[in-house]
Amino acid sequence: MSDPFHCLPWQVDWFVPELEHRKYEKAFREDADYSERVRLYFGDMHKHTNLSPCARVHPYNQSPAESYAHARDVAKTDFLALCDHAERLTDTQWRECMTLARETTRPGQFVAWPAVEWATGLYGHRNLYYRDCGAPLLSGRTLPSPARLWRHLRAENIPGLTIPHHAARELPADLTRTDEDLEPAYEIFSGWGNEEYHGAPMQDTDRSFTRNFAVDTLLRGFHLGFVAGGDGHPAPPADSGITGIYASELTLPALWEALRQRRTIATTGARIRLDFHVNGFPIGSILRFNQHQVGQLFPLRIGVAVQGTSPIERCEIVENGVTIHTKTKPRARLDQMAYQWFRHSGPTDGVRRIGSAGNVSRFLYVRVTQRDGHMAWTSPIWLDYQVEEEGEQQP
Ligand SMILES: [Zn+2]
Ligand SMILES: [Zn+2]
Repeated sequence: MSDPFHCLPWQVDWFVPELEHRKYEKAFREDADYSERVRLYFGDMHKHTNLSPCARVHPYNQSPAESYAHARDVAKTDFLALCDHAERLTDTQWRECMTLARETTRPGQFVAWPAVEWATGLYGHRNLYYRDCGAPLLSGRTLPSPARLWRHLRAENIPGLTIPHHAARELPADLTRTDEDLEPAYEIFSGWGNEEYHGAPMQDTDRSFTRNFAVDTLLRGFHLGFVAGGDGHPAPPADSGITGIYASELTLPALWEALRQRRTIATTGARIRLDFHVNGFPIGSILRFNQHQVGQLFPLRIGVAVQGTSPIERCEIVENGVTIHTKTKPRARLDQMAYQWFRHSGPTDGVRRIGSAGNVSRFLYVRVTQRDGHMAWTSPIWLDYQVEEEGEQQP
C-alpha cells in the first residue's frame, strides 16, 4: 500500500478478548497493511524525589533509587522518568542520577528515563526528556526561555524533548509558542488535576484560569500529543497520572522515538488500554493533504478499541474540542469495546481556519470515562488541509 501521508499503521497485541475480537478486526485490520508491531508500555512521566526541595515537605519522600524500585516492583510499570528541578541540582547529583538511571535500566524489563524539570518564573515549567544517560544538566538558570532551550538542544545536538505541564493553572507554562520538532506533547493530567479543557472533571477550577488548556493549545494549531504523570510530590510513582507509549520495544531509544512521534495515551492512573486510528493511521499521526488528496481521506474511517480496568461509562470521539460521537454500553458490564465509525464530512466542514488561503486543521482524539471515574485520552490525530496554489501542483 502506498503511504502518501508518511506514517504507517500498526498492530497492537493487547486486544484479544474473544467477545470483541471480531469487532476489533473489523475496526482495525480489515483494510490496512500493518507494517509495524508495537506494544503499549506504561509509566509515570513526571516524578519528583527527595532531591527536589518541594518533595521534602511532603510525607512521601523517596530517593531516586527508591522511586525506581517502587515503579518497577510495586507499581509494576515499565518505565519511570524522574523530573527533579534542574535549577536545584548540583553537577555531582546530576552525575549520580545519570549513573543510577544507566544501572537501573534493563532493556525489555524496565527503563529509567533520564529527565529533568526546567523552570523559570517567567515561562513556567517544562520537563526535558533525554535519549541517553550521558546528557548534560540543562536548567532555566543558563537557558532562561524555552526558545533558548530549544536553540541550545539543536546547536549542541543533544537529543531532548520538552513537555509543558500545569500549563493552565498557577505558574502556567508559556504556550505562546512551541517547537514542532522538539516539543511533542502536553501533560494533560497530573496530581494537579485534569487540564483537558476549562471545567473538565477532576479539576480545581479556582486555580485554573488561563487559556492554556490542552484543547485551547490544540486550537492554536499546535501538534501536541498527551502524556500524564504524577508530578505528585506527596504520591508514589504511577499513582496519579500515567502515560502509555506505543513503542517497538522497551528500550530508552524506542520509548524516546515513540514519544517524539506522539504515540502516547494518558490516563488518570488506571492502566486503561486505548487504541485509535483514522483511515489506518495511528495515534499521533499528522496527515497533511491538499485539495487533490481529499478523495483519499474522506469520509474518515475511525477505529477505536478500549480495554478498561473497570466497566466503561462512555467512550467519546472529540474533534477540535467538540464531542462528535459517544458510545456507551449501558446494559453490559463491559470493560472493553471496539468499533468503527465513519465521519461523514468534507475536509473543511465545521473546522477551524488556521493561517491563510482556506487552510484548516482538524484534530481528533478519544476520551474514555470509566464508571469508577478513571479517565483516559489518546493523543490526537491531525488532518491539516492546505490548499495548493495553482501551478504548484506536484506531478
Ligand atoms: Zn513543575
Ligand atoms: Zn514537577
